[in-house]
Amino acid sequence: MTLGKGKITVTMVPIATARRHFLARAARFGLSLALFAGGKTALARSRTALTGIRISESGEEHTRVVFDLSGDAEHRLFTLTDPNRVVIDLEDTRESQAIEISSMTTSLMSGIRSASKDNGRLRVVLDLRGKVRPRSFMLKPDGQAGYRVVVDLHATNLGPTPVKTSQEERYRHKQQYVIALDPGHGGRDPGAIGRKGTREKDVVLAVAKKMKTLINRTPGYRAILTRESDRFISLRSRVKKAREAEADIFVSIHADSFHSPSAKGASVYALSLSGASSEAARWIAQKENASDLIGGISLDDKDDLIASVLLDLSQTATIQDSLDLGSDVLAKIGKVSRLNNSHVQQAGFAVLKAPDMPSILIETAFLSNPLEEKKLRNPGHQAKLARAVFSGIQNHIKNRQA
Ligand SMILES: [Zn+2]
Repeated sequence: MTLGKGKITVTMVPIATARRHFLARAARFGLSLALFAGGKTALARSRTALTGIRISESGEEHTRVVFDLSGDAEHRLFTLTDPNRVVIDLEDTRESQAIEISSMTTSLMSGIRSASKDNGRLRVVLDLRGKVRPRSFMLKPDGQAGYRVVVDLHATNLGPTPVKTSQEERYRHKQQYVIALDPGHGGRDPGAIGRKGTREKDVVLAVAKKMKTLINRTPGYRAILTRESDRFISLRSRVKKAREAEADIFVSIHADSFHSPSAKGASVYALSLSGASSEAARWIAQKENASDLIGGISLDDKDDLIASVLLDLSQTATIQDSLDLGSDVLAKIGKVSRLNNSHVQQAGFAVLKAPDMPSILIETAFLSNPLEEKKLRNPGHQAKLARAVFSGIQNHIKNRQA
């Protein structure tokens, strides 16, 4: 190992929500491990230096790796399997051959390695204990901190897990729970259209209104609608409206369509931060997200007020909560409708991006299926659906009040 000019310090620091066991782990491995940058040919070429790596862990489901940089650097992240790895390429960044610390481990990560590539690129490999959802973003200098590339690793086992503290807190001490109901589409955006001409925007509004009546009749609950009539409203405004009403839960109601009339059944979706759980999920998310394009609104992520908040760790807990909520609702819908998928699906729906409000999107049925179109037009079936969804929500809340 060459001792170069740039000394790289790797530290493990607890983040706000870190648990006690993390501190014990940090103490075991030493709070500060020094690494040294090797000076080779790339050193002269590369503009930016990696000056430190900080690793923190909150619980067993989240690991954050922060790369401190002397300046701006393009980065690219991708995953590899067999064994599972996350690879981060830092462009035009000085090599540091010595980033290899087997003891730098967390619940999700078994080590870090690095290697300099051609053209001054530095490749850092995070060795994983299993599959994770990685996410990365660049932070500009702020106060004491300089340029940073932040990599978040989230456990993918988001199935049934013990109730989180944050969830319990979310539902405790409430006189009244506010449920935001979001009938999809509206106005110039009809949504899916059935063979008999049934428009998604009309049937989902009918279901939402029935649900509102039902909820408002129930002590301890109140419903708001993101639209009360047949008018266009942007996806962002829907979320904004719900948040302004301080909604505890957000439920977007839709009806699906497919080129094959045989596609059938209801589905429930939660937000995914990194990729859709299936091709179908991705396809449906694209269709539903296109609503804003129909309304002439840019879906540019850069001006998305929610994008910055998405970086917050609370989103992970909210998604977990949304998945749990989705399962509870799906179980009830399954009693009155066929299900297209018995598990909650995940995709990047824009309307589900509120970081602090458990949110689900329900595709109640396929309007492209003649039988389901007929059912969805039926006020009796609409009422059944409304009752099923609400009773799923009630179950979800009750289970967390204990
Ligand atoms: Zn829709």
